[in-house]
Amino acid sequence: MEKILNRDEGRLLAERIAKEADVKLHECYQCGKCSAGCPMAGSFDLMPRQIVHLMHLGDMETVMKSKSIWLCASCHTCVERCPHDIDIPALMEKSRMEAQKRGYCAVRNVKLFNDIFTETIRGFGKSQEVILEGIYNVGSGRLLQDINHVPEMLQKEIVRPELNQVRNKDHVRSIMKKCEEGGALN
Ligand code: SF4
Ligand code: SF4
Repeated sequence: MEKILNRDEGRLLAERIAKEADVKLHECYQCGKCSAGCPMAGSFDLMPRQIVHLMHLGDMETVMKSKSIWLCASCHTCVERCPHDIDIPALMEKSRMEAQKRGYCAVRNVKLFNDIFTETIRGFGKSQEVILEGIYNVGSGRLLQDINHVPEMLQKEIVRPELNQVRNKDHVRSIMKKCEEGGALN
């Protein structure tokens, strides 16, 4: 794939993201405590420690192409363990937003899920699990994923077949619009 940023551009972008995340990249001393405690590390292609290091080097191209920024669960375990409270999930989230703006998506199904989720909120004012799951399964090509759990979920009313909408959907849409204008849903 073509390079999208040279090192100077990457450094400027990393500095901006770090500032927005209130992180001082130079404070990381690569102890690795964040990576050791991350529950998603087994699925990451770059460990949390490496994300911070690459950003410090200004290599945003590698960061934005990584799977890790799409798979971070924002659980904050890394922040709790970090001796400098470096907010890695904020770095991940802001890098993911930049990657999305530039057309990078290393884990297509995460974007697909996110897009369907936000559209159901826009349409109904709240999440509709049955619709979300159905469209996601079709879009991801995994038609029968989780289908065996459906009877039990219906029985325990974890999901309901009827639509459950909020009364003032326009209010929810106006909140979403503000989030979009602030870049939160990009
Ligand atoms: S725990 Fe904190 S200081 Fe240690 S490598 Fe991770 S981000 Fe850097
Ligand atoms: S917030 Fe993300 S990077 Fe940090 S421990 Fe959780 S999943 Fe891992």
